[in-house]
Amino acid sequence: MTSMRSVNPTTGETLAAFDEDDDSTVDAKIAAAATAVELLARAGWAQRAEWMAATADLLESEGDEVAAMITAEMGKPIAQSRAEVAKSAHTMRYYAEHAYEFLEGRTLENPSVVNASAAGTRFDPLGVVLAVMPWNYPIWQVVRFAAPALMAGNAGLLKHASNVPQSARYIGELFARAGFPEGSFSTLLIGSQRVAEVIRDARVAAVTLTGSEGAGRSIGATAGDVLKKAVLELGGSDPFIVMPSAELDAAVEIAVKARTINNGQACINAKRFIVHEEIFDEFSRKFAARMSALVIGDPSDDQTEIGPLATESGRRDIEALVEDARDKGAHVLTGGAPVDERDGWFYAPTVVTGITRDMRLFSEEAFGPVASLYKVGSLDEALDIANESDFGLGSAFWSNDQEEIDRVVREIEAGAVFVNGMTISFAELPFGGIKRSGFGRELSMEGIREFCNLKTVWVA
Ligand code: NAP
Repeated sequence: MTSMRSVNPTTGETLAAFDEDDDSTVDAKIAAAATAVELLARAGWAQRAEWMAATADLLESEGDEVAAMITAEMGKPIAQSRAEVAKSAHTMRYYAEHAYEFLEGRTLENPSVVNASAAGTRFDPLGVVLAVMPWNYPIWQVVRFAAPALMAGNAGLLKHASNVPQSARYIGELFARAGFPEGSFSTLLIGSQRVAEVIRDARVAAVTLTGSEGAGRSIGATAGDVLKKAVLELGGSDPFIVMPSAELDAAVEIAVKARTINNGQACINAKRFIVHEEIFDEFSRKFAARMSALVIGDPSDDQTEIGPLATESGRRDIEALVEDARDKGAHVLTGGAPVDERDGWFYAPTVVTGITRDMRLFSEEAFGPVASLYKVGSLDEALDIANESDFGLGSAFWSNDQEEIDRVVREIEAGAVFVNGMTISFAELPFGGIKRSGFGRELSMEGIREFCNLKTVWVA
């Protein structure tokens, strides 16, 4: 049986290793999940809400250890790990409080128009849902699926990324420890090659993936083959447009944060900075200066702003993207290389400009602290570049001109647009993408409805 290793990206040290689940263990966990669906239905809303609130309390009470585990396992600066835990607990409480109203269904006021004495809709759970999750927010990504799914009455099975087995085991046990019936939510310690057999299992009703385009294609194809519901949250190459009327210093400050949060490894990091020529020189000078001044170091240190990339292969990928651009004539304003003086998989915050369509950076997602900077002469040109991407996840637009704002809100091809700010996910707002960033929505009311059967009820 293959083993899964948790490796500290700051040091390269192996922290722990776990054997993958064998076939009979996987089978038993799927069976337990199927049984849990019945128990969750019997428990009802109020009981599920109580368990969910208790899960939030438990997570919070263990917050310091959980944050330290996240940082050790994938290299996120510790303050951001703490914020991830707090946001996860908040989201659990949000769904404990609002799930009922989100899934209330509706009653037709005048049922005689459909020849009924009563008619309307209700939301029923789909059953067992498989969640395939990435390592970049090892607790939050899971919670934003699990909290609504369990509140709706579904059971969850988690296949987490192979490089975060400690987080996978922790979150896989948390819900039962807080009171949910055994099997309501559990982790399958399996590699990606075993995902298809779980999707095909008759006891599994649906699948959700947060991950790369490649994984999306593969999971989407299997789900399509067996005609099961799928939600896909995939990559992004979010544009961040800055126009002359914007507050420049604020835009620079937020641009740095938007590119480098999570060591630059978030789907909704701003990755392409599209700046009007009137302010381009000042923006690029200040932006490059701020990027190069970021404190790189041990992510468990509170002062650190940039830790290592999570995996060695992730750093190789980002190096290759920058090398390709440089070889084809791009200019590197700052960074552009691994940080040699440190062990671990550090890559310097980087700003690249002079990007052309033949460069991989133009069309591919840069999953690390590398900003692509574009100079444009007009809003038309800015929108053309922004929308030329195959991705369509988040976007940010900086301007104080209301006409420009109205136009961009309408015309930007993305699942979200943030005006004079950066793309962030909130429990209270739906989250997801279009084009090759995937389909379906998580969070808010829309997210909890994804894994429900919207049932029409008609009574003679
Ligand atoms: P990844 O390689 O696609 O891995 C994500 C998950 O999918 C892991 O659990 C992985 O398992 C599994 N997986 C990979 N290939 C698979 C396949 N062919 N069949 C079934 N499962 C498969 O993604 P990553 O590189 O770790 O994560 C970064 C990507 O996720 C980026 O593209 C990022 O933009 C995206 N992301 C999107 C969102 C969003 O909400 N839209 C949020 C965060 C991240 P193994 O680890 O075992 O390979």
